[in-house]
Amino acid sequence: MYRTHTCGELRESHIGQEVTLSGWVHKTRGLGGMTFIDVRDRYGITQLVIDVSKNPDLNEPAQSLGREFVISVTGTVIERESKNKKMSTGDVEILVNKIIILNKSEIPPFTIEDNTDGGDELRMKYRYLDLRRNPLQKALELRHNMGIQVRNFLHNQGFFEIETPYLIKSTPEGARDFVVPSRMNQNQFYALPQSPQTFKQLLMIAGYDRYFQIVKCFRDEDLRADRQPEFTQIDCEMAFVERDDILNMFENLAKHLFKSIKGIDIDYEFPKMQYDDAMTQYGNDKPDIRFEMKFNELTEKVQNKGFVVFDNAEYIGGICAEGCATYTRKELDKLTDFVKRPQIGAQGLIYVKYNEDGTFKSSVDKFFDAEQLKTWAEQMNAKPGDLLLVIAGIKNKTLSALSGLRLEMGKRLGLMDNNKFAPLWVVDFPLLEWDEDSKRFHAMHHPFTSPRPEDMHMFDTDPGKIKANAYDLVINGVEIGGGSIRIHDKDLQAKMFKALGFTKEEAEEQFGFLMNAFKYGAPPHGGVAFGFDRWASLFAGLDSIRDVIAFPKNNSGRDVMIDSPSKIARVQLDELLLNTIEAKK
Ligand code: ASP
Repeated sequence: MYRTHTCGELRESHIGQEVTLSGWVHKTRGLGGMTFIDVRDRYGITQLVIDVSKNPDLNEPAQSLGREFVISVTGTVIERESKNKKMSTGDVEILVNKIIILNKSEIPPFTIEDNTDGGDELRMKYRYLDLRRNPLQKALELRHNMGIQVRNFLHNQGFFEIETPYLIKSTPEGARDFVVPSRMNQNQFYALPQSPQTFKQLLMIAGYDRYFQIVKCFRDEDLRADRQPEFTQIDCEMAFVERDDILNMFENLAKHLFKSIKGIDIDYEFPKMQYDDAMTQYGNDKPDIRFEMKFNELTEKVQNKGFVVFDNAEYIGGICAEGCATYTRKELDKLTDFVKRPQIGAQGLIYVKYNEDGTFKSSVDKFFDAEQLKTWAEQMNAKPGDLLLVIAGIKNKTLSALSGLRLEMGKRLGLMDNNKFAPLWVVDFPLLEWDEDSKRFHAMHHPFTSPRPEDMHMFDTDPGKIKANAYDLVINGVEIGGGSIRIHDKDLQAKMFKALGFTKEEAEEQFGFLMNAFKYGAPPHGGVAFGFDRWASLFAGLDSIRDVIAFPKNNSGRDVMIDSPSKIARVQLDELLLNTIEAKK
């Protein structure tokens, strides 16, 4: 028998028992005729002691042990002389009488510790060693538990988990497709699904009125901390529902996860924020509402006072940073540099200090006297001791720069506590988004999203103004999921394709199957999909979704462990009638 207990299991109550443990050698140290070994498995670490004077046979195997050797040991549980309160097994140790080396290990390229000395790429290359570390094991455990809770909750609500194919025809979700050549259908390609969107709609037409799936999706886009080329969605769809039926159902799912995973009771209804308000008050369609610091528009108040920067601006707005009037010149310069970074995109930063003694000091003292600055302060709800930070410029750019500045100030002021959660629904997104480059509309969500009923009439007159019956779940500034009520009428769907610039033939070729299905009794339906990796990393308090994915890709989309993507053999290419050409340098 390899083990009677795990390495995280033994307590004082086991003292006197003979036990067998198996695991990896975490650490060894010798101390005057005694050898101490920490043996580790997924459940914890247990200390072993070898008293060589009493058990000379153990000397040789004990001396030969290296880090990450796999061993099986038998011995008696004894009370530990110096107890370690930080370890769950810290009250006991095992006096060993038998060691078997099950397998040796080379010296691992980095330490298997919570704070390892291995860099990112190295740990990715040896991901199976990185996965031995406690923080990763905890993250995967949390992810597993979330998956179980999602399935429990949705099963209890009558949802069926139904798998949909991975080899499909492209679904337009706004990204590039990964394509797979077909051997049996030469010169033709499958696409890997960006999401199961059209299939889940077809399932509604098929009468499975509550569907979900924890499913891989594939999008060939540039990668960031919260993006991977393959990622997992909790994909859901319901029939015979209106928007609020869906929001209720999935708000309850979110509350269930908060409770079962984080132990947090949320006893209020999630706020619903209009997309337009999110943009004007937070400059962002995924506002972090753990803290206020909303924008205040000053455009009318401050123009035509002789300050050209303001006079030439389309929009002028600011935020009030509480208690920051004491900021030094140096700190203000740093903030100015921050907003000028290309990712933030402002031309400059104007500050107004509302000093504790009621006086004002600003970077625009030449143009605005104390009385005028006081009216800014009043509008921005500032009190003595606060700092006003103002940006001017083209409206969209300025809102987005203010959003970056707001988040930076939130971070500096410690307002973004990882243990605090502020969920909300953002609703009423625009249906269409104008793209200057291609001079046509794109679907902001996807082409199957229904307009709000009250906006339908604008299809022929002012399509850019139509609001979609779409919603996002946002938690702490992270877009956790999004969805919409769908179009279920073939004429309306045709109108939508037309607005998106598809000819009848193009629409027919790409989506004929869906339009056809709409002819056979499509029920009203809608749904949502949540980014499972993102949600898990948010709950785990991690910055990157990589840390909740067992085998992630790096920023260039490579799996450096298995070395993929890679070339394929000539015979494989021949079978597929494919040729590769060298990329131009
Ligand atoms: N398919 C959508 C997405 O992946 C989600 C949805 O509309 O349900 O974003």
